[in-house]
Amino acid sequence: MDMINLTIDGIPVKVKKGATVMEAAKSIGIDIPALCYLKGVNEVGACRICVVEVEKARSLQASCVLPAAEGMVVYTESPAVVEARKEILRLILDNHPNDCLTCDKAGECKLQEYAYRYDVKFRDHNGARRVATIDTSNPYILRDNSKCILCGRCVSTCSQVQERSVLSFGERGFETHIIADNDKILGESSCVSCGRCISVCPVGALIDNRIAGKARAWEAEKEEVRCTQCDHGCHFELLRKNGNVIGVRAKEPGEGRPLCLKGRLSVDLTYNDNPAVPLMKKEESYVEVSWAEALGLEKIMEKL
Ligand code: SF4
Ligand code: SF4
Ligand code: SF4
Repeated sequence: MDMINLTIDGIPVKVKKGATVMEAAKSIGIDIPALCYLKGVNEVGACRICVVEVEKARSLQASCVLPAAEGMVVYTESPAVVEARKEILRLILDNHPNDCLTCDKAGECKLQEYAYRYDVKFRDHNGARRVATIDTSNPYILRDNSKCILCGRCVSTCSQVQERSVLSFGERGFETHIIADNDKILGESSCVSCGRCISVCPVGALIDNRIAGKARAWEAEKEEVRCTQCDHGCHFELLRKNGNVIGVRAKEPGEGRPLCLKGRLSVDLTYNDNPAVPLMKKEESYVEVSWAEALGLEKIMEKL
């Protein structure tokens, strides 16, 4: 197998041909920040926060899409790299609500993590801001587009992993925002509430409504469980607070492995101490129904 030798932050690295600089760095324990990157699903080099300095290159390079090359010399935290990352974070925070105190994503939010890592703060300014439009129309997904950083992870995941293509980018420039179908509220869109988009959102723009407000990220004890519905065994996390299960959530789709709806529902039912009453979409709204109706068993049960 062809191997590539390069140097990252003065450390010699050997990786398989085809590996990216980000993967090469990860193999020696160097964590390059990334917001939009999602392996195999969203490899677009759009957010640019993963830029690195490469000797003899004319500009900083996005490491998530940069193939490692023989003899390459890379710096992941040079002054130019750090300044570029700070500027990207400043630009994002300029159009972001200062809401970490009450945001359900706080403690797990990538934007918060990187702002702390690079000492970038919210600034007072009079620039235009996206309006906070909180979409509560879907009982499972809380959507706050004012926190969206337009990374595109949810769009790629919905189309490539879930194969629904509910989500896309709407409008252009400053008005760009994520839309469901032709800019419907989620509850009236063709979304099937699989929740995959929630598991990949790096910020608090997509939140599991069933867990929202139940615990801060650092209060919940997490236990990793695996789905037993098929051989892929997708990974889930059981969240407990004071010993009680407060929710089950899917981890990011693994390499090449989607998180299927059947698995998500069965893991939820297996572990959740207090499964919620099922909701079924009837015409334009969700209504509580019996489990028999939700599972399509009513006709069978009538015959019993
Ligand atoms: S999404 Fe992240 S940065 Fe934005 S308010 Fe929530 S925790 Fe803070
Ligand atoms: S919940 Fe599933 S179907 Fe709905 S928008 Fe998210 S990924 Fe698409
Ligand atoms: S909703 Fe989340 S995953 Fe989707 S584009 Fe916005 S920040 Fe990215």
